[in-house]
Amino acid sequence: MHVPVNEPLISAEAKAYVNDALDTGWISSSGPSIDRFERTFADYLGVKHAVTTMNGTTALHLALATLDIGPGDEVIVPDFTMIASVAAVLYTGALPVFVDADPETWCMDVSQIEGKITPKTKAIMPVHIYGHPCDMDPVLDLAKRHGLTVVEDAAEAHGAAYNGSTPLTAGGRLCGSMGRINAFSFYANKIITTGEGGMVVTDDDALAARARSLKDLAHSPGKRFWHEELGYNYRMTNLQAAVGLGQLENVASYLAHKKWMAAEYGKRLSKIGGIRLPVTKPWATNVYWMYGIVIEESFGMTRDQFRDALKEKGVDTRDFFYSSATQPMVRKLVGDQGPFPVSQRLGECGLYLPSGLALTQEQIEYVCDAIQQVARAA
Ligand SMILES: *Cc1c(COP(=O)(O)O)cnc(C)c1O
Repeated sequence: MHVPVNEPLISAEAKAYVNDALDTGWISSSGPSIDRFERTFADYLGVKHAVTTMNGTTALHLALATLDIGPGDEVIVPDFTMIASVAAVLYTGALPVFVDADPETWCMDVSQIEGKITPKTKAIMPVHIYGHPCDMDPVLDLAKRHGLTVVEDAAEAHGAAYNGSTPLTAGGRLCGSMGRINAFSFYANKIITTGEGGMVVTDDDALAARARSLKDLAHSPGKRFWHEELGYNYRMTNLQAAVGLGQLENVASYLAHKKWMAAEYGKRLSKIGGIRLPVTKPWATNVYWMYGIVIEESFGMTRDQFRDALKEKGVDTRDFFYSSATQPMVRKLVGDQGPFPVSQRLGECGLYLPSGLALTQEQIEYVCDAIQQVARAA
């Protein structure tokens, strides 16, 4: 058997909306699916505005550009994240200032943020890693006390909740609805996909209007093709929005599938020594975007050996992100800010198992049997 690390599951609704877009000729960035997708996504999150973009990286950049973050500014980011979080800061000319990971949640260690704040700090960018929310109350509190803006990178956390469950219980908030302006990705392996796509969300009317303008080359309001400032073409197509709308209508079943997947993996893998399974904090609803595990020394082989042994049995995995501060590109552009021992260790010892929405019970059993065999041989 071959088990891919991710296989998307495209809904019948998505296919119907795409065909509708093709049949009616709405193939660029105007069209009914764009408006409906933005409205439905904003309502789902409980925020006022949602602005589509062409991918999650541009959504992050647009959020920062909308805030006028630029050269001379600093943005506090987790060291353990997908490089797009860091790249978005670098695109603006601002300096990413790294914080090590929390060894349990793998999100930024919020107790280390305050020590990184300087007079140049403008924003904090928490990332909800692999679908587990970052501990947001301390972040929001720090931001308030120091006059900083919170920009969530919620690319991996559609439907994840803080202080509550999904659907939301009293006092709970969804990831991507807590910062002042936040970003999502709809890449093929994300919980909601548009193929490639992204979204900026905010409750702030002025920021939403600015994001809309900047993502569409910043035409002057009363005079098209006249430009007071430099904008971007970050527009999503109506075809992509059609996919997103059809997927979003099925989000509850996708979240249920992820929850089921985590329970199935957890039940089988908890019996195997030397493998650290993902945690869910009492205040968190983890959506298990990816089911990550950490290979501990006691397992008897390295992560790389483990990954290769699984690969031989037909099981694809993906190594965790590498510490951002150790990336050659980051070293070259911002110098050495390390060490970040937790993040570094995660990059060396972590990987995620097949976690796609099309994953079957049979595949999960096969993966866990393969891990069992590898563990016995270790
Ligand atoms: C996927 C992802 C992004 C970027 O999304 P793209 O749509 O691939 O550009 C940003 N941040 C994190 C944490 C991600 O996982």
